[in-house]
Amino acid sequence: MHRFFTNEIQGNTAVVRGEDVKHISRVLRLRAGDAVELCDGTGRECDAVIGSIAPDAVTFETQAWRPAKSEPCARVTLFQCLPKAGKMETIIQKCVELGAEAFVPVQSERCVVVLKPPYAGRVERWQRVSEEAAKQSRRGVIPKVEEPVALEKLTFDGFDTILVAYENERTVSLKTALRSAHPSRVAIVIGPEGGFSEAEIKTLTENGAQSVSLGPRILRTETAGMAMLAQILYEVEP
Ligand code: SAM
Repeated sequence: MHRFFTNEIQGNTAVVRGEDVKHISRVLRLRAGDAVELCDGTGRECDAVIGSIAPDAVTFETQAWRPAKSEPCARVTLFQCLPKAGKMETIIQKCVELGAEAFVPVQSERCVVVLKPPYAGRVERWQRVSEEAAKQSRRGVIPKVEEPVALEKLTFDGFDTILVAYENERTVSLKTALRSAHPSRVAIVIGPEGGFSEAEIKTLTENGAQSVSLGPRILRTETAGMAMLAQILYEVEP
C-alpha cells in the first residue's frame, strides 16, 4: 500500500502537494478511487482513497486517524557531534530507519568540521534526508533535524534518560544504565571522530547525562549512534 505524508488535513479530506503529486500521477499512475495510506508526520496515519488528481494537488477522502504502528515506544533524540563531511547524511538516514525521533547536530571541541551560521542550507539538506528515509521506512513521523548547538550550550529539558556514549567509560555499560531506567524520552550523545575531552564529559554529566560504555570495541562515530539507538529500542520494545 502506497503511503504519503501530508499536514493539509481538514475533516475527512486531506491534500498532498509538491513532488508527491507527480509521483502519484505519473510514476505510480494512481487514479481516483485507489486506496493509499496517509501519515500526518506527527505519529498518526489513516487509510484513504484518492478523490481527485489535479496538476498541483491530490485530494483524498480519509478514514479514521490512528496512531502510526511503526513508531517505537521510546522517543530517542540523537545529539550527534558533527562528523567529517558526508557522514551526517548516512547517520540521519540509518537512524531514521532505526526509529530516531529527532537529531541535534553538536559542535564539540574535537569536531573536525566547524559549522558557521547561517546553517539553513545544511539543515535543509539533512531534513530532506530525514524525510526521504521516513517515507522509505514507513515511519509515522518525519524526524526533525535541529540547528547545530555548541556542546556547552546543550540542555536536556524534558528527557527522562540522558546517556553520553563515552569511549573511556569503564564502569557503566549501556545495559546497566537502561536496566535502572524506564526510558521513554531518551537523549543520546555521540562524540566526533576525535572523541570527547574529560572536560566535555564533566559538562555533560553535570547537565544530567550518564556516561556509558558501548563495549570494549571502539566504534566509528557514524556507527556508535546507530548501534546505541538499536540497542535502546531493542531493550524497551515489547
Ligand atoms: N577518539 C576516540 C578514541 O580513539 O578512543 C574514539 C572516538 S569514537 C571514534 C567516536 C564516538 O563514538 C565516541 O566519542 C563515543 O561517543 C562513541 N563510541 C565509540 N566507541 C565507543 C565505546 N566502545 N563506548 C562508548 N562510546 C563509544
